[in-house]
Amino acid sequence: MAVASPIAPAAEDTTRRLIDSHGRVIHDLRVSVTDRCNYKCVYCRTGELGAQYPELAIADYLKLIKLFVGLGIEKVRITGGEPLLRNGLIELIEELANLRTLNGNPLDLALTTNGHLLDKLAAPLKAAGLQRVTVSMDAVDAPTFERITRVPGSFHKVLAGIRAARDAGLTPLKINCVLLRGFNDGEIEGFARFAREEDVVVRFIEFMPLEEGRLWTPEIVVPLKEIVERIGRVMPLVPMPAREASETARRYTFPDGVGEIGIIAPVSQAFCGACSRVRLTSDGKIRTCLFSQVEHDLYGRMRAGENDTALSDYIVKTIYGKEARHHIGEPEFLKPSRSMVHIGG
Ligand code: SAM
Repeated sequence: MAVASPIAPAAEDTTRRLIDSHGRVIHDLRVSVTDRCNYKCVYCRTGELGAQYPELAIADYLKLIKLFVGLGIEKVRITGGEPLLRNGLIELIEELANLRTLNGNPLDLALTTNGHLLDKLAAPLKAAGLQRVTVSMDAVDAPTFERITRVPGSFHKVLAGIRAARDAGLTPLKINCVLLRGFNDGEIEGFARFAREEDVVVRFIEFMPLEEGRLWTPEIVVPLKEIVERIGRVMPLVPMPAREASETARRYTFPDGVGEIGIIAPVSQAFCGACSRVRLTSDGKIRTCLFSQVEHDLYGRMRAGENDTALSDYIVKTIYGKEARHHIGEPEFLKPSRSMVHIGG
């Protein structure tokens, strides 16, 4: 009778991978390291300093992220609030840059920022091991930009941040612009020129009902089709092929290949079927969808002393229950209890 060798490697335990009940493999984790923000963008915040959620120690984010990486996460994006406000960020990036995925590769490590503090931090972040940044910028016209952020002088700070990031090699550099009809939809054509002149990827994002106030209506959303038509009237757009199935942006370039435009259309052309993403909030809760009605207190379990195996099992089980899709625009849609700044965009 054959006896199993005691040194034979254990068969791979595929039950401890992040797969949801709809068959989607989850390999992308967004981690909010603070829900504080130095901007009060009119479409995101009410302007009042609302309740803030607790922040974890940097070492605790690291412990939790390591558990996710041990279960197959390959991409980690640090976000907030405004992540550059967070003490200990550089140390966190250094530690994350040393982690390896289950395939032995470095993590795909990125960060989303409003760019206000990036002029000073781009080079240290790159040296710490950060690969890419996405900068949020909702207008290329300075007065319009500052009407949105409600912070005087912010446009030139962000522009300096974008240029510092490019010089530091935090590339490809993506600029995210949330379009709202009547607020900044006059910026579409200017952004197309900006993409070409600054050699950045500009991505327009449809506005989702995740604001602190009550601004969202279907009419305020500028849909993908309209953006493509409007840019096309000034400069023809050439579609680019998707790089992976879970890519959220439809990508376009121009006939001379200079400049890239992406359009992320979660409202008019939802991509939930290809979603590969989950979130960890600044207070250590798992959110399996931006629009989840429930949160899963991973940090609470860690603080209560659960060991890594129990915590990993909890992550696997939680992600198995990921929602099939969002219900924006449908009668049964319920706005989540947290807004984007408190979830981590
Ligand atoms: N402070 C960082 C920043 O500005 O990028 C990270 C957090 S911010 C919440 C992340 C992104 O979410 C930003 O690009 C912001 O424009 C976007 N965002 C905020 N509210 C949104 C909404 N209701 N719909 C779509 N995007 C939104």
